[in-house]
Amino acid sequence: MGMDKRIPELLRAFGESGCPLCRRSAQHAARYLRNLLSEYVDDLPTRRSLRRSLGLCAEHAWALQGVALSLKGSGSLATAVLYEDVTRHVLAALSEYLTQGAAPPPRSGIRRVRHWLERRGRWGRCLAARLPSDEATPGGDLLAGLTPREPCPACAHVEAQVSGDISVLLRTLTDADFRAAYGASDGLCLPHLRQALSLAGNTGAAQILAEVAADRLRLLHFDLEEHWRKSDWSYREQARHPWEQAARVRAIAFFGGEASEQDTEAALAQRRWARAEYHRHLRGQAGATRPPAGEIFGRPGLDLESPTFDPGEPRTREAATGLDPEGTADPCDECEAQRPD
Ligand SMILES: [Zn+2]
Ligand SMILES: [Zn+2]
Repeated sequence: MGMDKRIPELLRAFGESGCPLCRRSAQHAARYLRNLLSEYVDDLPTRRSLRRSLGLCAEHAWALQGVALSLKGSGSLATAVLYEDVTRHVLAALSEYLTQGAAPPPRSGIRRVRHWLERRGRWGRCLAARLPSDEATPGGDLLAGLTPREPCPACAHVEAQVSGDISVLLRTLTDADFRAAYGASDGLCLPHLRQALSLAGNTGAAQILAEVAADRLRLLHFDLEEHWRKSDWSYREQARHPWEQAARVRAIAFFGGEASEQDTEAALAQRRWARAEYHRHLRGQAGATRPPAGEIFGRPGLDLESPTFDPGEPRTREAATGLDPEGTADPCDECEAQRPD
């Protein structure tokens, strides 16, 4: 067996429940997110990349919340710093759109030329039809500003790492012990099976992947059928096994990949608390006067492309956002129920 450090990690994953590559994906993601929060918050290329991807995808953003919680105070500060940057970027796009929208619309040169040509008979109408459209999509620039220009960097990292795992997996399947360990694993989910087969080509490794997958799927199909069959009244006396009940959930895992397991109870509780708390906060601000669009970025010297946020002069929250400083409207029932003691 080779010396690649991925081999013992893969062997460990084969011994655990579920798709071993989904497990590896979760490990790669957790490592990436921990590094991001603890070492790369001030890294300029990382900040630029997160601005282009508009933060992380939903799966990795929520995983980040859990990782931040495990890092205590430093994790929450790092999350706030990273998302302040992205928030400012999106707010700039909205603000620019609203400022331009408030100004009188500039007369389109193309529209004027078209109008003139259309009154010049057939020849003019023919030329007018060849002019580019002067009707840009309303909010087209805004939409561009609100659309990620890069994939989630955590997804990109995980994909590269899993590709590395798959290369080692395919290469090492020639080893009898490694092959036996893979054969005893729970098998790959369909997305990872597809990814592995696309890298395997027409090799002996592809044959092994297909054999193990067929073996696992045959059993899953039998258990699903049994679950369905025993729901019939005429078979009510037959014992229903827990694995037959579990099969439908495992079918979901096979076709979609394993569900994220980053959500600890503490992370879920913090998420519910933050949602209810902010809901209460927003209700309190509902009647507050906000500054006209554009004034949020009116502070001199604020470079929107700057990766580091210069807080400038001390400022009050209400001056910066136009929000009511207290936010003391009556909380709703949900807020009250979610409020931590
Ligand atoms: Zn998988
Ligand atoms: Zn992602």
